[in-house]
Amino acid sequence: MDYELLRKKMVQEQLIARGIKDERVLKAFYKVERHKFIPEELWVSAYADFPVPIGEGQTISQPYIVALMTECLKLTGKEKVLEIGTGSGYQAAILAELTKEVYGIERFEKLAKKAGQILSELGYKNIKLKTDDGTLGWQEFAPFDRIIVTAAGPSIPLPLTEQLNDNGKLILPLGESFSQVLTVVEKSKGKLNSIDVCGCVFVPLVGKHGWREENA
Ligand code: SAH
Repeated sequence: MDYELLRKKMVQEQLIARGIKDERVLKAFYKVERHKFIPEELWVSAYADFPVPIGEGQTISQPYIVALMTECLKLTGKEKVLEIGTGSGYQAAILAELTKEVYGIERFEKLAKKAGQILSELGYKNIKLKTDDGTLGWQEFAPFDRIIVTAAGPSIPLPLTEQLNDNGKLILPLGESFSQVLTVVEKSKGKLNSIDVCGCVFVPLVGKHGWREENA
């Protein structure tokens, strides 16, 4: 299969056609080999317009959603970024193409290990991963200029707003189990301001400041 061609089509038909404009973001999507982040038997669907299973009942988000969230972060190349819900590692790779340092937290050890493996195979040296409850943030490396949460919780986890730098941005889906609103939270002079982006559906954020395991 010609994955490069599939990637080009994905960028043109799913991202550019729906309004993704940031040239740096588009370049990262042309480059990162999305199929390498999912199980080999699903490679035929790697560039399709829907989420794909990655094991442990989790999914890699649809390309457009990954692009939209990335564009909303407005990365210039200098930021320190925290990602909660690293899953396959694909979003982390996209971020690593666009900024200086990426920190990723994944709740399932098996997924974190697999993500770490492929990211190092692909040569990324600016990504640090750990297995933990990401709703607690990563105090050791805080504050962060950007925080991206790729699983949906009922409310904004407090540690994340505390670990967000002033003039920083946090993007996360907020709402019920099967319908959420993608929300950008900006911090300015210690105050938070939220902006709704669009409706969306993500897997649940399970942790101390997310859903409890039995409700997820
Ligand atoms: N960004 C990922 C999307 C994975 S789906 C990618 O590019 O593939 C969301 C992930 O969030 C799942 O892997 C799930 O296990 C993880 N997750 C859910 N709650 C979490 C928590 N509290 N801390 C860390 N990861 C969490």
